[in-house]
Amino acid sequence: MTIDECIKGGWFGTSPFTDRLVIPYPAYVGNYYPDRICKPIALFLHEPQEEADGRESTPVWFQNPNAHGSTRWYADNDGDLYQCVPFPAAAIANGLDRKPEPKFNDGGQEFNGVSLNTLSDNIEIEGWTHSIAQTFSNAQYGGVLDWLMLGYIMWDLPRNTARTLSHFQVSADRSDGEWVRTKSGVVQEAVSRVLKLEKDVQDIKALLWKEALRNNGQDANIWTQAVRINALEAKP
Ligand SMILES: [Zn+2]
Repeated sequence: MTIDECIKGGWFGTSPFTDRLVIPYPAYVGNYYPDRICKPIALFLHEPQEEADGRESTPVWFQNPNAHGSTRWYADNDGDLYQCVPFPAAAIANGLDRKPEPKFNDGGQEFNGVSLNTLSDNIEIEGWTHSIAQTFSNAQYGGVLDWLMLGYIMWDLPRNTARTLSHFQVSADRSDGEWVRTKSGVVQEAVSRVLKLEKDVQDIKALLWKEALRNNGQDANIWTQAVRINALEAKP
């Protein structure tokens, strides 16, 4: 299934990019904006302030009509990804609150006064802000890494770490997301992995072209490989 089809259908069963299982866990419809088309230009990191343990209480909380908020994604501490808000709706996750609007200055789209919720994708990373440095497990790192790579490719964000933000950066009374953003290394790894993946695809394509030309285009095997590369490129 392509990303476009997933977006149309509203839910990922598995991440089409990483094959990681994604658990659909629909939030109460009043906890997000069902009628807003979300077109992310940035990714936001959060911690929900719940224990990093075997009880995933945040997706359950998003089903409560009194929650008044949500994120599209939730990364539990054993590596699972949950999707709580369907595409193309916008979560109510990270409105601008008494802080200056983040600027990217990379030539891509800026927020320019539009709701950050409409222009971002967002994830709750199971844990507490005060102890995420201790509880951020390798499995959870892998889940967040997959989600970040998927986000950069799916939304075609400029390939730089500035496009990943923390809740702390946009709200005067929130401090979550900042340790993962600045100290865990996961954002840098996601961007460099996306760049490497794209460079590998380009290198393979260049090699194939050279081979195809050398054989005057007579080698059927070359074309088979070229088709496979096209399929690989289409996958995200
Ligand atoms: Zn938050």
